[in-house]
Amino acid sequence: MTRNPRYDILFEPVAIGPVTARNRFYQAPHCSGMGFAAPHMSAAMREVKAEGDWAVVCTEYCSIHPTSDNTPLINATLWDDDVRAHALMTERVHNHGALAGVELWHGGGNAVNHNTRNGSLGVASLPGEKYDPTQSRAMDKQDIRDLHRWHVDAARRAKQAGFDVVYVYATHRNLVTQFLSAAKNQRTDEYGGSLENRARLLRELIEETKDAIGDTCAVALRFAVDEGGHGDGVVVNDEPRAVIEMLAETPDLWDVGVADYSYEMGASRFVGEAAQENYVAYVKQLTSKPVVGVGRFTSPDTMVGQVKRGVLDLIGAVRPSIADPFLPNKIDQGRTDDIRECIGCNVCYTSDTLSAPVRCTQNPTMCEEWRRGWHPEVIAAKGSSDHVLVVGAGPSGLEAARALGHRGYQVTLAEAETELGGRVLAEARLPGLAAWTRVRDYREQQIAAMTTVEIYRASNLNAAEVRDVGADRVVLATGARWCGDGVGRWHNTPLALADDAVVLTPDDIMAGAVVSGPVVIFDDDHYYMGGLLAEQLRHAGHEVTLVTPAGHVSAWGARTHEQRRTQTRLLELGVTVLTGHVLAGGGGGGAVDIACAYTGRRHQIAAETLVLVTARLPNDTLYDKLVALGGGVELTRIGDCLAPGTIAHAVYSGHRFARELDDSATAEASLRREMPRLED
Ligand code: ADP
Ligand code: SF4
Repeated sequence: MTRNPRYDILFEPVAIGPVTARNRFYQAPHCSGMGFAAPHMSAAMREVKAEGDWAVVCTEYCSIHPTSDNTPLINATLWDDDVRAHALMTERVHNHGALAGVELWHGGGNAVNHNTRNGSLGVASLPGEKYDPTQSRAMDKQDIRDLHRWHVDAARRAKQAGFDVVYVYATHRNLVTQFLSAAKNQRTDEYGGSLENRARLLRELIEETKDAIGDTCAVALRFAVDEGGHGDGVVVNDEPRAVIEMLAETPDLWDVGVADYSYEMGASRFVGEAAQENYVAYVKQLTSKPVVGVGRFTSPDTMVGQVKRGVLDLIGAVRPSIADPFLPNKIDQGRTDDIRECIGCNVCYTSDTLSAPVRCTQNPTMCEEWRRGWHPEVIAAKGSSDHVLVVGAGPSGLEAARALGHRGYQVTLAEAETELGGRVLAEARLPGLAAWTRVRDYREQQIAAMTTVEIYRASNLNAAEVRDVGADRVVLATGARWCGDGVGRWHNTPLALADDAVVLTPDDIMAGAVVSGPVVIFDDDHYYMGGLLAEQLRHAGHEVTLVTPAGHVSAWGARTHEQRRTQTRLLELGVTVLTGHVLAGGGGGGAVDIACAYTGRRHQIAAETLVLVTARLPNDTLYDKLVALGGGVELTRIGDCLAPGTIAHAVYSGHRFARELDDSATAEASLRREMPRLED
C-alpha cells in the first residue's frame, strides 16, 4: 500500500540547527523506569521507534551531575563513564536513519539526592515538593559556576555518546524553572529580581551548550508556557511569553508544553487529543526555529492540521510512540487502520514512580524488546499445527487470539456476549473512558482481516461444549467479577451486613442496576473504579459518599496522574469524601456503620445503597470443571481469569501466552537481566 498524499506533509524533512530530521515525527523525551539501570533494554526500546520511522528519538531526563539524583526514581545519567551506555542507544537509533536526543536535567531543590547524599542545590533554601524532610541550600556564585561547568561537560559527553539533539530542560519544576519563578527566586544578585535576571541562567546554559557542541548538535529548549502550580495547572501569564520573545532565536528548537504533567500528558478522561494547542499555538509566531509539542496525537489528520495551521513543525509524541512504535511507518505505508492507538490510560507513566520498565495497555511488547526478544510487529511463525480454542473475548482473549492468528495458528474464539471486548466494553461506558474501546477495536479489526481466526459470538460455552470443539489446546480468558461481600485489602473475611442492605458491585452498576437513595461507595480498590462510579452516580443525581481507608481518593491514580484531578472533580461535583475510614457493617434501615481506619471509632451515615469496590474473583468455574473432566486437552488460564489485574496486565498475559506457545526457547529466554559490572 502507498501513502495517502494528504499525509505527505508529515514526511517532509525539518532542519534543526546543524542536523535534519527526516520527517516530522518526533519522540519527545519520556521516562522509562530503566535509565542508568538498564541500558540494553533502553537502547532496544528506543531502537524500535527509530525502526518505526520516528525521525527523532529522545532519552528520558538525564542527570548531568550527582547533585541531581532522583532516587528512588530511575533516570538516565551522563556523569562519567555512562557515555558508553548511551552510545548503545544512539548507534541503534542511527542505524535506522533517525536522530538521537538527550534531555539534560538538573532537578535543583527537587532532587533530594537520597542515593548520592550530596544535599540539594536550589535557587533558595526551600523544601522540595515531595514532602522529604530536607531543604535545598541556596546556590552561591561558585555553585552557579559549577553548574555551568557540569552542564557543558555533560553536553560534551552527550556529543561523544553520539547524540544529535541536546536539551536544556526548563520545565517540570527543575532547577532552571526554579530560577525563572518569581515566587521561588527572591535572589538579590544578577540571577534574581527582574525577569531578565531570572532568565539569565537559562540563557547562559543555552549559549554555552551551543558554544560547546553546537557545531554538530542541535540545542533544544524544553519550556512551559505556564507557571505550573496545582489544580488545573494551566495558568498562562505574560512571563513565559516574555521569555520566549527574549530567547526566540537562541535555541535551535523549541519543545513547548505546560508545566503540569497531569495536563501535558493528561489521562484521556480529563484531557483530549491536541489539547495543548490552546496554550502553545502562539509560540511559532514568535520564533523562526522549529517548534515541537505533544498532544497524544494518533490521528494523522489531526497531525496534518497542526502543521498546516502553523501550530507545530514537528509532531511530538510520547504515548502514541509507546502504544505503537510503528505509527509513522504505518501512515507512510498507507496502513492507518493498523495503528494501535493510545487510549490515554497513563499506565505507561506508572513506570516512573514504580521504577519499573514502561508497560503499556495497548502494546504488550513495550520494554520486552531486549529481555524477551519481542518485536512489536514481528512474531515467530507457529510451532505446531495445533488448533487453539480461546474462550472469552476480553482484552486477554482478544490479544491471545490476535497474536496466535498472526503466528498462523488455527484459532477459534468463543465469546458469551454478542459484542467482543469483555470488561473494556463495560468500563468504556464510564465517564470519560470512551477511548478505551480502542483496546477492543484494534484487536477486533486485526482479527477480522485474518483467515486463521474464527469468531463465535453469543456462545457461552460449558465444559462439554468446550470439549466438543475438539481443539488441541484450550485457553480460558473468562475474566473476573467484582465480589459483593466486602472482602479485599481491609476486610479479609466477609463483612457483616444487614439482611435488608442493598449491596451492589461495580459490575451491577455497569450493567445498569437501578440505584436508589443516598449511596455509599466503599473503595478499597484505590484505582479508577471507585472514583468513576462516584462521578457517574453523582451525575445521575444521587447523594454520594465515597469511603476509603486511604488518605486520598483513587490513591493509586497518583501514579497515572489522575489522583489530584479525580479528587478535585469529585469535590466539585459535591461528592462527600471520607478518607481514612472503612465500611464496618450495617447497611439496613437506611444507614451504614463507618469506622475510623486509625482509632476504630464508629459512626453511622445515611445509605440506601451500598456499592462495594473491593476485590475481584476469577471466573474459573469452567476451568475447574474442565480439570475435573480430565482427558488430555492442554488447558491454560490467562488474564483476569488467572489473576485479576489491570487491562494492561490482561493484554500482556494473552500476548505472552501466544508468544510462548510451542516456543520453549522464547519461554526459557525470559527474563534476560542487566547485570552490574563487577570491578576486578
Ligand atoms: P480479561 O480482562 O481477562 O480479558 P474480561 O472479563 O474482560 O477478561 O473478559 C472475559 C470475557 O469472557 C467476557 O467477554 C465474557 O463474556 C467471556 N466469557 C466468560 N465466560 C465465558 C464462557 N463460558 N464462554 C464464552 N465466553 C465467556
Ligand atoms: Fe497510551 Fe495507556 Fe499505552 Fe500509555 S499505557 S501509551 S496511555 S495506551
